[in-house]
Amino acid sequence: MADKITLNEDHTLNVSDNPIIPFIEGDGTGVDIWPAAKLVLDAAATKVAKTIEWKEVLAGEKAFNETGEWLPQETVDTFQNYLIGIKGPLTTPIGGGFRSLNVALRQILDLYVCLRPVRWFNGVPSPVKRPELVDMVIFRENTEDIYAGLEVESGTPEASKLIELLHDSFGWSIREDSGIGIKPVSKTGSQRLQRAALDYAVKHGRKSLTLVHKGNIMKFTEGAFRNWGYELVREEFSDVAVGWDDCGGDPGDKILVKDAIADITLQQVLTRPAEFDVIATMNLNGDYLSDALAAQVGGIGIAPGGNINYVTGHGIFEATHGTAPKYAGQDKVNPGSVLLSGVLMFEHLGWNEAAASIVSAMEKTIADKIVTYDFARLMDGATEVKCSEFASAIVDRL
Ligand code: NAP
Repeated sequence: MADKITLNEDHTLNVSDNPIIPFIEGDGTGVDIWPAAKLVLDAAATKVAKTIEWKEVLAGEKAFNETGEWLPQETVDTFQNYLIGIKGPLTTPIGGGFRSLNVALRQILDLYVCLRPVRWFNGVPSPVKRPELVDMVIFRENTEDIYAGLEVESGTPEASKLIELLHDSFGWSIREDSGIGIKPVSKTGSQRLQRAALDYAVKHGRKSLTLVHKGNIMKFTEGAFRNWGYELVREEFSDVAVGWDDCGGDPGDKILVKDAIADITLQQVLTRPAEFDVIATMNLNGDYLSDALAAQVGGIGIAPGGNINYVTGHGIFEATHGTAPKYAGQDKVNPGSVLLSGVLMFEHLGWNEAAASIVSAMEKTIADKIVTYDFARLMDGATEVKCSEFASAIVDRL
């Protein structure tokens, strides 16, 4: 009998050896990458005497074609109920009433952390000389910032009203033909994200946390994010972590919490990657940083992601790339992103042995130069295989 994953009183997950996990196959290349990833995840689970009962839920084009809705309520309810799920990429509906289905799911379930680990897997082609130095875990705030969706269009009555209000109440002069976006960054939203990053750093024996922000320009949003981070360290984590200014850069055996301006960070993650470990940042910075870093270690074809609320226990793990429609149904693209998202999900469930076995089997497969087209075009002497064949090769090496 399969069981639901439940939340314990201390906010840890209660996971049996036979959990029910909802999945969304995904649009476009979802039909290729999801079955490939599932093959590997099931095989790795079996090796450690566990089985997953996968429960399909619909979203995106498949949902629209079958139910007339892009994001059926039943899908949202299932994720609410079963806590942990996984998904392939979804087409963003044009004029479907959604900014993006992914953003909608994150907001409905209040998945406030976007977790993006970025590390190099042995053998993966990389544009940098020392990709092995990249081992960072990005905690991107997922619910606030410019992504909160508070925008008015240039030339509309709403824009005129806001421009007038800002002029009359604040004395701000804004050009009449401006569109306006509002960027909320709260202490609550910032500190719950930073708390999750610090908890992660403690649990995984990490050395430092860098708060990445653009506070030199946006003092009361991004600068406040930085200040709230240091405040949190002093108030809740002083036994295990210390801010740079409070220790002169010498944290002893505590986790060092430092901060860096977003622009220089994008340079230094490239030139001095070993200095970055866990990173906590706001939504937009996190978006740029995650994809820029993924490029150093093999690109979005293998970058995993998870969207998590550590308080309610909800988490949806997902491929970070899109639906790549030009390759849909060709059994061609790399299943690595959704597969490694499954690995991240296994780690989140405490299935570390199964997770490690997949990573090691994938590294062996790549070391044997058995790769999909995206890696084959960057490697000498590679054997290009289909998406499904890449998955089978990993299973053979588990
Ligand atoms: P995309 O689907 O991510 O594809 C862009 C390029 O990334 C592809 O042409 C391909 O590069 C590479 N790529 C993507 N998936 C890959 C894989 N599995 N293996 C290897 N390479 C891969 O971006 P897009 O074309 O801008 O977006 C298409 C649709 O996806 C849109 O509807 C968009 O809204 C949606 N989208 C969804 C998500 C999500 O669900 N999380 C995220 C982003 C976009 P090459 O051409 O170089 O081979």
